[in-house]
Amino acid sequence: MHIVQPGMEIDVLKENNKIANENWRLLKSHGIKSVDFMGSIGAGKTALIIKMAEKLRAKGIRVCAIAGDVTGTDDFGRFERSGMEAVNCNTGKECHLDARLIKKSLADVDLDGFDVLFIENVGNLVCPADFPLGTDYRAVVVSTTEGDDMVRKHHDIFLHSDIAILNKTDIAYAVDVNPETIAEDYSRLTGGLKKMYMCSVKKDEGIDEILAALGF
Ligand code: MG
Ligand code: ZN
Repeated sequence: MHIVQPGMEIDVLKENNKIANENWRLLKSHGIKSVDFMGSIGAGKTALIIKMAEKLRAKGIRVCAIAGDVTGTDDFGRFERSGMEAVNCNTGKECHLDARLIKKSLADVDLDGFDVLFIENVGNLVCPADFPLGTDYRAVVVSTTEGDDMVRKHHDIFLHSDIAILNKTDIAYAVDVNPETIAEDYSRLTGGLKKMYMCSVKKDEGIDEILAALGF
């Protein structure tokens, strides 16, 4: 997707980081805590965000979501049906969100009406890593159904994320994947400094630990 000269690419990334900084300052000036959820298609990002938002809502914390997808309103619709305020953000053809798109989406959010913003990035384990959006945290979500080699194949996104989450541990056995293999790869990649958070959104296991890791 990125057919650019080396010099041009640096300019694009520089410009993105500048706008990301503006987004971060805007969110902070309204006291909003924000998380960018990156990960592959089908990892369970939408379901995880909905589950986390439900738990936060029970504590009186108001959550808004931005649904990032190339086209369509499927995830946006799921957010809305779950009772969450949401903004749909279609990239048109790009395989990642960028700070400029988030800046535009934030114009449609009543920033004083929320405490937390969850952004669901386009399903992709490659280029979202290069485009910070201006959130407090970046999370990468993968699932056991993708096989046990996700960390080994995608160093960059795991190194660019503050927290790594492995979803669908409840069906790991059925897809013949050992979650520990993935967790060990991640631990090795981060020099033993970070652990991977395991969860099953479906069974509501491990979500509270993730919320705690994000300071909730
Ligand atoms: Mg989704
Ligand atoms: Zn991309």
